Amino acid sequence: MTNGALEKRKGQRTCICCGKQEGKGQLHRFVRTAEGQVAFDPTGRAAGRGAYVCSKECLMKACKNRRLERALRISIAPESYDQLTEEFFSSPSGGDGEDGGVINA
Ligand SMILES: [Zn+2]
Repeated sequence: MTNGALEKRKGQRTCICCGKQEGKGQLHRFVRTAEGQVAFDPTGRAAGRGAYVCSKECLMKACKNRRLERALRISIAPESYDQLTEEFFSSPSGGDGEDGGVINA
Protein backbone atom coordinates (compact mmCIF):
# COMPACT_ATOMS: atom_id res chain seq x y z
CA MET A 1 0.00 0.00 0.00
CA THR A 2 1.37 3.39 -0.95
CA ASN A 3 -1.02 6.14 -0.05
CA GLY A 4 1.36 8.10 2.11
CA ALA A 5 -0.04 11.53 1.32
CA LEU A 6 -3.34 10.82 3.02
CA GLU A 7 -1.86 9.62 6.26
CA LYS A 8 0.70 12.30 6.81
CA ARG A 9 -0.83 14.35 9.55
CA LYS A 10 -0.66 11.82 12.36
CA GLY A 11 -4.14 10.53 11.78
CA GLN A 12 -5.77 13.80 12.78
CA ARG A 13 -9.37 13.87 11.58
CA THR A 14 -12.08 16.47 11.50
CA CYS A 15 -15.71 16.07 12.46
CA ILE A 16 -17.72 16.86 9.34
CA CYS A 17 -20.40 18.50 11.43
CA CYS A 18 -18.77 20.75 14.02
CA GLY A 19 -15.24 20.80 12.66
CA LYS A 20 -13.66 19.50 15.82
CA GLN A 21 -10.30 17.85 15.28
CA GLU A 22 -9.37 14.66 17.03
CA GLY A 23 -7.03 11.76 16.64
CA LYS A 24 -8.31 9.02 14.40
CA GLY A 25 -9.38 6.79 17.25
CA GLN A 26 -11.51 9.50 18.85
CA LEU A 27 -13.89 10.09 16.00
CA HIS A 28 -16.47 7.73 14.58
CA ARG A 29 -15.94 6.76 11.01
CA PHE A 30 -18.46 6.24 8.27
CA VAL A 31 -17.42 4.83 4.97
CA ARG A 32 -18.71 4.79 1.44
CA THR A 33 -19.04 1.20 0.38
CA ALA A 34 -18.30 -0.20 -3.06
CA GLU A 35 -22.04 -0.12 -3.72
CA GLY A 36 -22.21 3.60 -3.14
CA GLN A 37 -23.94 3.18 0.20
CA VAL A 38 -22.87 4.48 3.55
CA ALA A 39 -21.92 2.22 6.43
CA PHE A 40 -20.74 2.67 9.98
CA ASP A 41 -17.13 1.59 10.27
CA PRO A 42 -16.41 0.61 13.86
CA THR A 43 -12.88 -0.50 13.05
CA GLY A 44 -11.98 2.73 11.27
CA ARG A 45 -10.16 0.67 8.70
CA ALA A 46 -12.69 -0.19 6.04
CA ALA A 47 -11.68 0.58 2.48
CA GLY A 48 -13.30 3.54 0.81
CA ARG A 49 -13.89 7.23 1.28
CA GLY A 50 -14.51 7.96 4.92
CA ALA A 51 -16.14 10.72 6.93
CA TYR A 52 -15.84 11.34 10.64
CA VAL A 53 -18.16 12.62 13.32
CA CYS A 54 -17.33 13.21 16.96
CA SER A 55 -20.65 12.37 18.59
CA LYS A 56 -24.16 11.09 18.16
CA GLU A 57 -25.39 14.64 18.03
CA CYS A 58 -23.07 15.44 15.19
CA LEU A 59 -24.09 12.30 13.35
CA MET A 60 -27.75 13.26 13.61
CA LYS A 61 -27.00 16.76 12.42
CA ALA A 62 -24.76 15.57 9.64
CA CYS A 63 -27.58 13.33 8.44
CA LYS A 64 -30.14 16.11 8.59
CA ASN A 65 -28.15 18.79 6.89
CA ARG A 66 -26.69 16.35 4.36
CA ARG A 67 -23.12 16.95 5.27
CA LEU A 68 -22.54 13.25 5.37
CA GLU A 69 -23.77 12.93 1.81
CA ARG A 70 -21.53 15.70 0.67
CA ALA A 71 -18.53 14.40 2.55
CA LEU A 72 -18.91 10.99 0.96
CA ARG A 73 -20.13 12.30 -2.39
CA ILE A 74 -23.12 10.03 -2.56
CA SER A 75 -26.80 10.48 -2.04
CA ILE A 76 -28.21 8.75 0.96
CA ALA A 77 -31.80 7.57 1.23
CA PRO A 78 -33.70 8.39 4.41
CA GLU A 79 -33.96 4.72 5.29
CA SER A 80 -30.21 4.38 5.04
CA TYR A 81 -29.86 7.12 7.60
CA ASP A 82 -32.17 5.25 9.91
CA GLN A 83 -30.15 2.11 9.53
CA LEU A 84 -26.95 4.00 9.99
CA THR A 85 -27.92 5.71 13.19
CA GLU A 86 -29.32 2.44 14.50
CA GLU A 87 -26.07 0.65 13.82
CA PHE A 88 -24.19 3.43 15.43
CA PHE A 89 -26.30 3.57 18.55
CA SER A 90 -26.22 -0.18 19.03
CA SER A 91 -22.46 -0.35 18.80
CA PRO A 92 -20.71 -0.39 22.18
CA SER A 93 -18.58 2.71 21.87
CA GLY A 94 -18.10 3.42 18.23
CA GLY A 95 -15.41 0.90 17.80
CA ASP A 96 -13.24 -0.53 20.50
CA GLY A 97 -15.28 -3.58 21.42
CA GLU A 98 -15.44 -6.53 19.07
CA ASP A 99 -12.21 -6.25 17.28
CA GLY A 100 -9.99 -7.40 20.17
CA GLY A 101 -6.24 -7.56 19.82
CA VAL A 102 -5.78 -4.44 17.75
CA ILE A 103 -2.96 -2.39 19.06
CA ASN A 104 -2.38 1.11 17.82
CA ALA A 105 1.35 1.26 17.62
ZN1 LIG B 1 -18.74 17.11 15.88
